[in-house]
Amino acid sequence: MAAEKQRLAILGSGFASLSLVKRIDLSLYKIAIVSPRNHFLFTPLLPSTTVGTIEFRSIIEPIRSSRNEIRYYQAECISIDPEKSIVKCETVQSKEIFDLEYDHLVITVGAVNNTFGIPGVEKHALFLKELQDARKIRGKIIENFERAAVPGTADEEKKRLLHFVVVGGGPTGVEFAAELSDFIKDDLVKWYPKLAPHATITLLEAATQILGTFDSKLSEYAMKIFQRQNIVIKTNSPVKEVLEKTILLHDGTVIQHGLVVWSTGIGPTKLLQSLPFPKNRASRLLTDEFLRVPGTRNIYAAGDCATSEDENYPATAQVAQQEGKYLACSFNRTALGKKAEPFRYKNLGMLAYIGDRRALADLPNVKGRGFATFLFWRSAYLTRLVSMKNKILVLFDWIKASIFGRDISSF
Ligand SMILES: Cc1cc2nc3c(=O)[nH]c(=O)nc-3n(C[C@H](O)[C@H](O)[C@H](O)COP(=O)(O)OP(=O)(O)OC[C@H]3O[C@@H](n4cnc5c(N)ncnc54)[C@H](O)[C@@H]3O)c2cc1C
Repeated sequence: MAAEKQRLAILGSGFASLSLVKRIDLSLYKIAIVSPRNHFLFTPLLPSTTVGTIEFRSIIEPIRSSRNEIRYYQAECISIDPEKSIVKCETVQSKEIFDLEYDHLVITVGAVNNTFGIPGVEKHALFLKELQDARKIRGKIIENFERAAVPGTADEEKKRLLHFVVVGGGPTGVEFAAELSDFIKDDLVKWYPKLAPHATITLLEAATQILGTFDSKLSEYAMKIFQRQNIVIKTNSPVKEVLEKTILLHDGTVIQHGLVVWSTGIGPTKLLQSLPFPKNRASRLLTDEFLRVPGTRNIYAAGDCATSEDENYPATAQVAQQEGKYLACSFNRTALGKKAEPFRYKNLGMLAYIGDRRALADLPNVKGRGFATFLFWRSAYLTRLVSMKNKILVLFDWIKASIFGRDISSF
């Protein structure tokens, strides 16, 4: 008689989770996924959706369609009982509580935006983490142009409405500023010819340079390209407070703004903060070489919410994907009585779009920049999209935007 399948519960529907689900042997495991988000989101192309280079639905995939035979619950895990091997969950819509039993648990709940407790950020800035965030940003950009176009709007107010401030010079902030600059230059200038030339973008960074994780020559090149595109970069400019229409910097500077996009890094989710397991200083769960949470028998963690006891992994999609893939292989092996190998992270390098059809590639053996790298950037992400449907939709969106321009409707 075949052995009974083991119950594997996965918290989250992001990179680590999908990568695991795609490879797990369903003849050995019964999978239950718990996540408030019922789809997978391909975040590397999220900045492109804020201006309509790519449409929102082109970069998501329902988690239910990842594999047949998996169970999915649209709920948030609110606590874990490691003794009884039970997770307590709360449904998203009706806030009902239910328990889920497991034989093995994988925590891949990602992270939340980090505001560093700076006053006014939650209330007055927009984030760029989920699809709803990108949607809000796209709506706000168009809204500000429409408001500035109303007859009688004072010049000072026009200037404020059309001043877009990005806080955080990491890859996400840089890519958003680049996409916005393209949108203004390629499309908005056609439909708002008097206003678009007065639109400005400022990138605020607390450190001494933008794209600090990239090779310094590439980061200098990005700064040069940004200056050419009239994107103002202010390094050494930590933000003190965000107000409805202004931003205050620590050096006393007051900046008028029409929109602030906050992208300064990540912090732990509420669930993570409440878990009694060992964590590092950034509150990421510590895991051993098998990605197991120390002191537990059957709890594993992967992706942004976790890091190794020995080496601090970057919070990136490639780490999450490699960990998800590794866990699937390990579970498949151990169910057949084989020994699991330790996890080894392989750095595949970083890519970033910097606008004007130029990109950066900081790969282990090659440093690339410019138009050829932009083509490489596009083809790399096209191949990494998780479904054929996503690949076709994104390709179609790029062609559509280059022929007809990006759509400026708001609804
Ligand atoms: C705009 C943007 C661009 C990016 N670009 C790149 C890039 O180009 N390259 C790169 O390598 N990385 C990039 N990243 C980082 C990358 O997205 C993350 O590192 C990656 O998503 C981490 O995967 P994960 O599985 O840990 O978490 P996520 O993909 O964030 O998924 C977390 C999941 O957990 C769910 N969840 C949260 N709380 C709970 C709970 N209590 N119970 C159950 N489920 C829960 C969430 O709903 C979500 O489904 C980018 C990130 C952003 C925001």
